[in-house]
Amino acid sequence: MPNELISDVNARRVWDSRGNPTVEVVVTTQSGRVGRAIAPAGASRGAREAIDMRDGGSALNGMDVKRAVKNVETRIAPAIIGKNVLNQAEVDQAILDLDPSKLKSELGGNATVATSLAVLHAAVAAKGVPLWRHCADLSGNEPSLPLPEIQIFGGGAHAGRRVDIQDFMVMVPGADTFDEVMEVTSEVYRAAGAIMKQKGRLAGVADEGGWWPVFDHNEEALETLVRAIELAGEKPGDRVVISLDIAASEFGSNGRYRLALEDRELGRDEMIALLGRWLNDYPILSIEDPLAEDDPEGMRAFTQEFGSRVQIIGDDYLVTNAALLEEAVRDGACNAVLIKVNQAGTVTESMDCLAAAKAAGYGTIVSARSGETEDVSISHMSVGFGAGQLKVGSITRSERTAKWNECLRIADEMGQGAFVKGAPLASTVWAQKVGEEA
Ligand code: PEP
Ligand code: MG
Repeated sequence: MPNELISDVNARRVWDSRGNPTVEVVVTTQSGRVGRAIAPAGASRGAREAIDMRDGGSALNGMDVKRAVKNVETRIAPAIIGKNVLNQAEVDQAILDLDPSKLKSELGGNATVATSLAVLHAAVAAKGVPLWRHCADLSGNEPSLPLPEIQIFGGGAHAGRRVDIQDFMVMVPGADTFDEVMEVTSEVYRAAGAIMKQKGRLAGVADEGGWWPVFDHNEEALETLVRAIELAGEKPGDRVVISLDIAASEFGSNGRYRLALEDRELGRDEMIALLGRWLNDYPILSIEDPLAEDDPEGMRAFTQEFGSRVQIIGDDYLVTNAALLEEAVRDGACNAVLIKVNQAGTVTESMDCLAAAKAAGYGTIVSARSGETEDVSISHMSVGFGAGQLKVGSITRSERTAKWNECLRIADEMGQGAFVKGAPLASTVWAQKVGEEA
């Protein structure tokens, strides 16, 4: 492995898409190469994910990151200066050695992830290759363009809990190119807006750019999404399908699920039955966190019943953690995992989880957070890791379109052939759908 040693590490406070402070890190090498990255921030966070360090107090609603910035410059920098940026695992290990806490609470996950990603970018500057290529080299995966899942209506913690369910998204597994996915999705998004306007319910957008969910009950969002797909000239379930992030940990605990919008509480079995009915009544091919992170019994039962026909993604349930993923594989919970690099806290740990998922035949979906910036690292990671799918919110707001547009640039570099129709979706799901039609 060639040597490109870190000579300097600097951090500053920058701002995310919710107007909250976040951490940017700049890593410089001895030959003057520079890598820069910014930490994203979640709102519906898993209890077992790396913890962002926030300053507390009354200023900036307690969200300031001065301590995390200081940790990068005074604690992480001395530990990684002199290390080789081309050896991501070694640099990440040096960061991990500084913080024995389970959830990176001593350094802050925001400090560790921005540094780890900046090292990745510095390596790319040194190698003179695109980031996606470096990610493929590091992970040993064949690069491929991901199938997007794109939000049409926001909800849950991203929309003031106006509805309980968090993400109503579309996927276009029937598209031939990434470009076609974006075009079809744009038509659906526009159609959804037109329906909301016509109903007098247009009220702006939620945190990830999907329409603000002015609905009387949760299922009305699904009904409206189907109508929007039709209004866009598509047959629901044909080229365009639905993906949901229930984010059930936000409204469920101890096997009870409180749907505030509908003023009712469901037990575990009732919740599974409700979602099962939606799977029957709507063209849903993917569902994330259908049960809460503290409900392994529910997640196992749900996977047992529906896992052969729908992609079941663990987000809060697995928090990009290889050990939790392996436990889920043993338990028969989920059949896919969301990969959020700041849940793990370093690039290497994220890659470990992705590798464990691939080894188990689980689907892999690289994901943004609801608090994002212009940083497009995850677009490259999804390609270089051969992740199959990418989730970054809607097709509006520049922190979202930055990621999709970067994929379009990568598509031009790779050739559109790098997008494999249908294949990125957890294979059994798409194969079964196509098989049923044949
Ligand atoms: C999600 O739950 O998938 C998500 C992106 O939300 P957040 O970043 O708020 O955790
Ligand atoms: Mg989620």
